[in-house]
Amino acid sequence: MNNPVLLAVDDDAQVLAAVRRDLRSRYRERYRVMSAASGEEALATLRELKARGDSLAIVISDQRMPGIQGTDLLAQSLELYPMARRVLLTAYSDIDAAIRAINVAHLDHYLSKPWDPPEECLFPVVDDLLDGWQADYLPETNGLRLVGHQWSPRSHAIKDFLAGNLIPYRWLDVARNPETAILLDAAAVTSADLPALFFEDGSVLRNPEPRQVAERLGRSLSAALDLYDLVIVGAGPSGLAAAVYGASEGLRTLLLDRHAPGGQAGSSSRIENYLGFPAGVSGSELTRRAVAQAQRLGAELIVPLEVTGVSIDAGYKRLTLSDGREVVSRTMLIATGMEYREHPASGIATYVGAGVYYGAAMTEAPAFRDRRVLVVGGGNSAGQAAMYVARYAKEVQIVVRRDSLRETMSHYLIEQIEKTPNIRIRTAAELESVEGSGQVERVSLTLNDGTSQREDVDAVFVFIGTRPRSDWLLEGVLRDARGFVMTGRDLSADATFARIWKERREPMPLETSIPGVFAAGDIRAGAMNRVASAVGEGSMVVRFVHEYLTLN
Ligand SMILES: Cc1cc2nc3c(=O)[nH]c(=O)nc-3n(C[C@H](O)[C@H](O)[C@H](O)COP(=O)(O)OP(=O)(O)OC[C@H]3O[C@@H](n4cnc5c(N)ncnc54)[C@H](O)[C@@H]3O)c2cc1C
Repeated sequence: MNNPVLLAVDDDAQVLAAVRRDLRSRYRERYRVMSAASGEEALATLRELKARGDSLAIVISDQRMPGIQGTDLLAQSLELYPMARRVLLTAYSDIDAAIRAINVAHLDHYLSKPWDPPEECLFPVVDDLLDGWQADYLPETNGLRLVGHQWSPRSHAIKDFLAGNLIPYRWLDVARNPETAILLDAAAVTSADLPALFFEDGSVLRNPEPRQVAERLGRSLSAALDLYDLVIVGAGPSGLAAAVYGASEGLRTLLLDRHAPGGQAGSSSRIENYLGFPAGVSGSELTRRAVAQAQRLGAELIVPLEVTGVSIDAGYKRLTLSDGREVVSRTMLIATGMEYREHPASGIATYVGAGVYYGAAMTEAPAFRDRRVLVVGGGNSAGQAAMYVARYAKEVQIVVRRDSLRETMSHYLIEQIEKTPNIRIRTAAELESVEGSGQVERVSLTLNDGTSQREDVDAVFVFIGTRPRSDWLLEGVLRDARGFVMTGRDLSADATFARIWKERREPMPLETSIPGVFAAGDIRAGAMNRVASAVGEGSMVVRFVHEYLTLN
């Protein structure tokens, strides 16, 4: 198989020669560096590569070229190579064009000319983009293959686990890929064994649990130490940030997650308001970076492992795990965020994982190519999901109870949605029921005049009704009426606080009603529900952990 391609495009022969030279000097061992002198030539090259089944990792194009301009070329390359990374070479005066191109061309980076020295200005950017591309890339002939039925909740659970844990795999729906019959026969895998996960060495896991997959992939599922300084429950943005700071400041830090690192943010197709990412960043990319950073600094991560309870033993925090074991720590951070509540529509529970998905738009969207999809909810998460699913589906309807999206969704997303021809917004409507036989086939909507309307759809993605994940906590951790964990000064407003709190000092900011137990991110009463604020709180908490450890 040919190495993946890095394509450089510029009409200025000197600049093109310089990009080619720099790229070759560093990447020629693992990539083929190709070049084109115009947008037209580049498109012809891309079509040829596609026809040969070659992979494209990055296209780096100059903006100002006669004929097809850089941003148009990059936008057109999306159709041929949606996963490739796109870089625009800009002069200072082109930066506005580059910013405009972020949405149209899914630009990953714009690079100012000249890029000297390449060790500082070019290679770090390209290294980073290649890391991200490699994480998503799976060569045609090897890697993990998951074979199953699209409408099976078990298949969905494994897909969601693999995608959430950033493990590249190829999904093969038995109904759509007749060639899977040969694969299944050869390994004597029957229909009852599905979903089945095929490994590169020919071995197969039949109808596995996520935990078995993690074990088979060589992940450690037991804690390395008897005692930690900080155990973080939940590896969303707040937990990951706490792990980075905790480990970097020398704390023995353990991070646990019941499902996958990244939390809610990990399921976002594009976070556009997180500082430092002008082109936006996908939740999986942000997670990949954060996990690498936390682990490099020495944090221990165990996934999937759920914390089911906690007790306090002479100041030590004893956490009970879903595998029956325990971990002990001097302090603990609750960073368990929120999850979607079950939607009350009639029949909906029957189809969870079989056409009804809570969150999970990134995992399942490709399965709904050319189909009709409903997205329920009016927040940013629903807006992002609709934009992502619309890349694949024939038609996406956003169903929202209010009269407009303006109060609940960011302006930039509303604008993007309005410009997307295959998205339709159904305001003042509610999902009433979901029907089908074995899979979602249609829904009923209640409109604000009290009438009902039936619609044929193939999938329903639900993005409403979040609830805090705090029911596993011990009673002494005070929560507000909705179940969010109270911290710091807010605690004194609770009538039972004075009875529970036995310390001479006030609780520190982000400390709960149990000394040395902290809370950060969406789980905390009064949280901002943003990636940046979750990261901020997770980072801050480590300072208070130090203070607690000094006092105790
Ligand atoms: C689709 C989507 C798009 C979004 N887009 C944006 C955006 O563009 N910009 C923005 O600022 N915000 C966005 N948000 C909001 C943002 O993602 C959240 O505010 C943020 O993720 C909260 O982080 P957190 O760490 O507090 O909790 P979470 O992200 O909810 O993570 C909590 C983690 O805890 C784990 N967990 C729960 N219970 C247990 C347990 N008992 N044991 C072990 N682990 C457990 C969960 O598996 C999860 O991984 C979006 C949210 C969604 C759902």
